[in-house]
Amino acid sequence: MDFTMPARAEDFRAEVQQFLAEHLTGEMIAATRDGTIHSPALHRAIADRGWLSGAVPAELGGGGMDPVELCVLLEELQLHQAPADALGVAVVAVSMILEHGRDHLRGTVAPRLMSGEVLACLGYSEPESGSDVAAARTRAVRDGDRWVINGSKMWTTLAHVADYVLLLTRTDPEVPKHRGLTFFVVPLDTAGIEIQAVETMGNERSNATFYDDVVLGDEWRLGEVNDGWTVMKTALKYERGIAGGQFPSPPVIEAAVDWARRARRADGSRPIDDDEVRNKLVRAMIDVEVCRSFAYHTAALASEGTMFGVEGSMTKLFASESYKKHCAWFLDMMGAEGLLTHDDPGAHMDGLIEEHFRHAPVTAIYGGTSEINRNLVAEGWLGLPRSRS
Ligand SMILES: Cc1cc2nc3c(=O)[nH]c(=O)nc-3n(C[C@H](O)[C@H](O)[C@H](O)COP(=O)(O)OP(=O)(O)OC[C@H]3O[C@@H](n4cnc5c(N)ncnc54)[C@H](O)[C@@H]3O)c2cc1C
Repeated sequence: MDFTMPARAEDFRAEVQQFLAEHLTGEMIAATRDGTIHSPALHRAIADRGWLSGAVPAELGGGGMDPVELCVLLEELQLHQAPADALGVAVVAVSMILEHGRDHLRGTVAPRLMSGEVLACLGYSEPESGSDVAAARTRAVRDGDRWVINGSKMWTTLAHVADYVLLLTRTDPEVPKHRGLTFFVVPLDTAGIEIQAVETMGNERSNATFYDDVVLGDEWRLGEVNDGWTVMKTALKYERGIAGGQFPSPPVIEAAVDWARRARRADGSRPIDDDEVRNKLVRAMIDVEVCRSFAYHTAALASEGTMFGVEGSMTKLFASESYKKHCAWFLDMMGAEGLLTHDDPGAHMDGLIEEHFRHAPVTAIYGGTSEINRNLVAEGWLGLPRSRS
């Protein structure tokens, strides 16, 4: 197997690095302390560069960026800790709208999302349904040309800064759960919508969103009535294609190496000279290379036109589980010092490792939990029996 990156991907990497040197500031990264992993200025700059519309598949009218280059873009954004969560969401939302939307959504919402002028968020999960997303209960009832929506969504990340939510609703409670769903693109300034902050232990802000007699015209419907599961499958397909969040460990490893070089133990020795510490650091670096192989293998499959499935699950599973493991190793290595957070004087690198330690578990939950991804690998790769209906 040839592991060499194509020359065009490395040229593109240099272009992204140059772009980040010009556009990403320390203030943008520091601003994410409020829990919102989004910078309006950076998002617009990425869109202006053509990388947002570029990431939308060509067959839908987007730029059709090579998936390997898209993977490079996502890797560099993550390595530089760029607050760019809205990018992946926008690409998924535009792809859903262009594939299933009618004139109103295709003509008004999609172009503004692609230009970075407006933001979208994803309203699938509810207080009682996350992994089993098809069990959504938020009701949409037809009233002539209009729809009336009532219910609540949980974990509507970015809703407090977004303009639209792609909302999964139940339109027929009498049929099997996958058949009675309908999607809507809902402007978040519509009367009857309330957004409440949900803070996570990893400092990331998400939201609970409430829909109380929200009235919408039929032009906001995305896809056919009761065919929301087809739209959902499109969303999952593009979400896996984006394959973001696969490179979380390198900044933590860098911080751990820095700590191991600088810290002094009671006997005056440096942790970096301890074989056990070096062993953990090297193992973590090897894991990062495995993550990269998974991610670029998946991207290469997409580049060749193969619609991957289980490979996306393997990539996400390995990346989030190894990230959790690395953070736990390094926090243990640091002993009591590892407990200092960014507010504490003397915290190493402003408490970066401790903060990642709290953030890491979340990555094994959103976008499909590790258990669900293990099920998908077991069924899709090992041919084991299905674990749920
Ligand atoms: C920070 C954050 C941001 C998020 N952002 C969004 C967002 O923007 N939009 C959105 O719609 N959702 C979002 N989510 C929701 C996320 O997708 C769900 O939390 C996730 O799918 C799990 O659903 P749940 O929380 O309801 O847990 P559950 O589905 O109730 O799962 C509970 C536990 O049971 C396990 N489990 C469930 N089913 C099975 C099974 N069949 N086999 C084995 N184990 C199983 C799970 O792995 C988990 O450990 C976000 C979540 C978080 C934490």
